[in-house]
This record gives sequence, C-alpha cells and structure tokens, in this order.
Amino acid sequence: MVHPAVYLDHAATTPVRPEVRDAMLPFLGGELFGNPSSSHRFGRAVRAAVEGARRELAEAVGVAPNEVIFTSGGTEADNLAVLGACLEAREQGHPMIAAVGTTEHKAILAAAHEVVHLGGREILLPVDDDGRLRLDALELALAERPAIVSVMWANNETGVLHPVAEIGARCRTAGVRFHTDLVQAFGKVPVDLAEVRVDLATVSAHKIGGPKGIGALIVRNRTRLAPRQHGGGQQAGVRPGTENVAGIVGLGRAALLAARDRAAETVRLAALRDELEARLLASVTDLHVTGQGAPRAPHILSVQAAGADGESLLHQLDLAGIAASGGSACATGNVEPSHVLTAMGIPRERALGAVRFSLGRETTRSDIERVTAIFGQAVEKSRRLAAALGRA
Ligand code: PLP
Repeated sequence: MVHPAVYLDHAATTPVRPEVRDAMLPFLGGELFGNPSSSHRFGRAVRAAVEGARRELAEAVGVAPNEVIFTSGGTEADNLAVLGACLEAREQGHPMIAAVGTTEHKAILAAAHEVVHLGGREILLPVDDDGRLRLDALELALAERPAIVSVMWANNETGVLHPVAEIGARCRTAGVRFHTDLVQAFGKVPVDLAEVRVDLATVSAHKIGGPKGIGALIVRNRTRLAPRQHGGGQQAGVRPGTENVAGIVGLGRAALLAARDRAAETVRLAALRDELEARLLASVTDLHVTGQGAPRAPHILSVQAAGADGESLLHQLDLAGIAASGGSACATGNVEPSHVLTAMGIPRERALGAVRFSLGRETTRSDIERVTAIFGQAVEKSRRLAAALGRA
C-alpha cells in the first residue's frame, strides 16, 4: 500500500495557509502594485494594507503597531537585535557586549560573534542538562552590563522553553535590554509581550503558515537600535527599504490566524507529541528524549537513539515517506552533533543519533502511527550500520 508522505519537519518550515495565500494574491498582480511610500492613490491603497498587517501582527503578540519593524525574516531580525543594540551602545559610549544563550539559533550566535569582530565581547550563557538557561550565569553576565541579552523563548531543536519571564524581570532590574527569539514559540505556546518584559522580539512568517522571506523585529520600550541598512526613511529608518508588501500582508494574516488558533493547537499538538513520545520510548531501547525534564513547546520532539547514525536514520525515514530532521551537521568534513545538544552535555554517541520530529497544523494521529510503525526498524538498521562503520 502506498502511503502519502508524512511531513514532520514543521520547525524547518510550514506550508502556506490558504487564507494567507488568498490575502497575498491581490498584491502579486493587478492594481495593488503601488509603492507604499507614494502619496498618490496607488501608494495609499498599498500603505493601508501594510498598516493593516502591522496591526494584525501587533495585536497577535500584544504590542502597539508602531513597535513592529518588518524584516526579511527571523535571521535578519535576530541580527538587527544583537548588532543594532551593540552598535547603538558603542555610539552612546558604552561597551559592546552581547550575552547570548549557548543554544540560540545560529543567527544569534553568529551575530554575537560579529560583535567580537567589531571589537566588542560575547558572553555565552550556559544551559542546564535539560537545556534551560542557567539563571546564576545570567546574574554574573548582567553584572558586566551587556548591551543586550538574547535568549530564545522556545528552542528550535528541542522545543525546550526558557524561563523568559524570569530572564526579562532580571534584565529589567539590571537595566539591560532583553531580546527573545519567538520564532518557534509563537502560535505554539502563550506569548503575550504585554505580560513579559521584553525589549526586542523576533518573529518569522514561514514557521506559522506564512510565506518565506518575511519576519519582524518587535521593538519595545523605546529601545534604540543602530540600523544595519541605510537608505530611504522607511520604518523610521531602523530598517529602510521598500516594503515586501505581499509578504507583509501574508505575515499579518498568518499571525492573526496563529493567535486565533493557538490555544486549541497547543492542546492538540501536545496530545499528539505525548503519544509519539510514549510510543517511541516503548518501542525502541536506549532511546532518550531531549530536554525531557523541562517544559517544552508542544510541536517539537527530539529523541536520541544511542549508537545510531542520525543521517542514515533520516534516510531510512525518508525512504518510508517520513520527513524529519536531525541533530547533527557536517562541519569541516566530519559529522558533528549540533551545538544545542553539545551545550546540553549530551554524550556524542547519543547526540549523533538524534532526530527531531516537529508537528504542525496538518499532523494527524495516523501520521504518528506511521512513524511508530517504522521507527524501531529504522533505528536497528542505523545502529547496525554505525557499528559496522566502527562508530558505536
Ligand atoms: N530563529 C529560530 C529559532 C528559527 O528556528 C529560525 C528558522 O530556522 C530562525 C530564527 C530564522 O528564521 P528565518 O528562516 O525566517 O530567517
């Protein structure tokens, strides 16, 4: 029997929702082609759509519309937060210090590294064995008065939720700006920026049923950022450039829908994730759930199959029509465990056999059953292969 493919890689990207596509279409052809900066009617019509999307996104995350800066995606927003805050600090005569979690997305880690190239300093904040930020390390870092602290709300490889309310409160007490990457959390767990002290926050459309190449940086509390781009005065000069109108409209609609559906999705996804987790643990020996002791976003399940080879495991899954992703990356010709799993202190032999399943709106119970039916065999094959190659 031929099964339809099972997509369990929603943390990588999600299909565009039909409502989002429908909202975008008028801006991809026809009369709504104006430049939103033009004062004539063609411009005004399009400007109204951009401002409508800004309101939709602002409301979805609990901020004011003028606190939304559209960017080309999560990566740009992360870079703008870290580098924009550090360069602004330098302009004000303060040291450029970026304090970032060790399990952050590469967009944050690389931006912090760029701060070092620019003559500043990075402080890498460790996590505990479950992947949660260590608050004692944060305290030490705050004493150095960094220009920015950046800790993501939910981790993209493990789903682990950081104690962001606590981190925000401590940053506020210390008078230090706090940035959080909301890319994996938004639409999956309650996110209300009116409740948590956050100065800067990153959103990306394509993880919530929107198009790729569009995102936003939420800029609160009059946080000043040195722009990374220079040009016309769009978006108060913080991020100039003619706006990606269709993308922005898509982001606004995706955000509105994600916020509307969030509560029900959290419950539904958590039930499916729990079922997948229980079934996999019951059917495979020496299998470990990453961040098992921590609160986790409901759509991500990362497991480590000790002694297996993640790459071959993903290949087996792909052959069976199941799309997931791994926990390792090719670095200088060798396969290395991801920086996230390494930072959590997971032994290499387990981390190399890591697989991430990430669930989404279309995921059903039968998808979970399909994975369970083949995962055990796939792990066995992969373990035999790893042993034959002398890696186990
Ligand atoms: N931050 C996190 C946590 C992510 O998962 C991703 C996507 O992989 C990004 C940032 C980057 O977002 P984008 O793909 O929109 O550049």
